[in-house]
Amino acid sequence: MQYRKFGNTPYNVSVLGFGAMRLPCLPDGTVDFDKATELIRYAIEHGVNFIDSHHFYHNGQSEEAIGRAIKGFPREKLILQTKIGMYNNYSDQQCWQLLETALKKLNTDYIDFYLTHSLRWESYLQYNKQFLKFTQKALDQKLIRYIGFSVHDSVENMKKIINTGEFSTMTVQYNLLYRESQEAIALANEKGMGVVVMGPVGGGTFGNPEEEITQWLGSKIKSTARLALRFVLSNPNVHVAISGMSTLQQVIENVETADNFVPLDDSDIKKIEQITQSRRKLLNLYCTGCRYCMPCPHGINIPGNFHWYNVANVYGVKKRAMEKYALMKQEEKASSCTECGECEPKCPQKIPIREKLKEVARFFEKK
Ligand code: SF4
Ligand code: SF4
Repeated sequence: MQYRKFGNTPYNVSVLGFGAMRLPCLPDGTVDFDKATELIRYAIEHGVNFIDSHHFYHNGQSEEAIGRAIKGFPREKLILQTKIGMYNNYSDQQCWQLLETALKKLNTDYIDFYLTHSLRWESYLQYNKQFLKFTQKALDQKLIRYIGFSVHDSVENMKKIINTGEFSTMTVQYNLLYRESQEAIALANEKGMGVVVMGPVGGGTFGNPEEEITQWLGSKIKSTARLALRFVLSNPNVHVAISGMSTLQQVIENVETADNFVPLDDSDIKKIEQITQSRRKLLNLYCTGCRYCMPCPHGINIPGNFHWYNVANVYGVKKRAMEKYALMKQEEKASSCTECGECEPKCPQKIPIREKLKEVARFFEKK
């Protein structure tokens, strides 16, 4: 396993982290603790030292699964990260309860990195004072070691949050399909923050190799999941990539990739870029996911629609995109657009949103 220095913190993190949000489950949807223990322990025994959770993953069973799995391992060799969703408008008392419960479930006296989850600039303005006050107390009592945030926002807003200087670490999405956060990642690294990438394999998008993608780089890439992880780790500003693993096979494959990791060379990365750029051009849909067009007054998830359309048509992962699109609520889908036009002047890419949404609806819903 390879390790990288985690910003200005004293930690060295394994380049592969265990994301405990897609643990194996029983038919009733609860976590299969025995299997989850097997997966997490295999990862730790093969050098993974970073484990990520959230109090609401698996309805609260994720932290518990970690707590069970890490019993017997020296605590100081492990780096535990978990999160709180401040946007839920918790009282101070509820924040404390969640932290105390997390400590208990994780079977530990302290949490290495405690994050405010899914931060956006608006929620930063609304809730961050409370988060800082609450976590300062927890830091003083040595219940947590560092604070950070995970983020789903425009790159400009990510940079604003980084530049506050209030956080030691950032967890952000970055993968072959979503590379826009690259600039924010570079800034965070430059500022001495630990950089964690979630969704290195596109939230499972690349889990199922698709013929078109596997042809991209020829026979030297064994699977798209390996390619996706290698792509993320080839960025030196990324310190750890957390992958949500559900089967032992995935853990074994990810560990092997991280163990024998060789960065993609410039020509490979260029080739990926060329292919995606030419496909994007063909499609004429450069949605960066910046969300400036949101919220849509009629509830359409504009970037979500465009994302899955691009996944299908730019990256050729059609089956997965079809499944994901089908899971969206009807009111968020392209076909529910009323064509009011409010969103279009806000789009920096000047996308004719109404027209493109019609294309999306025709493609996914045959409408
Ligand atoms: S045109 Fe469609 S997507 Fe845009 S704001 Fe109106 S309803 Fe929403
Ligand atoms: S449609 Fe335009 S404004 Fe909306 S997320 Fe995409 S690029 Fe940003």
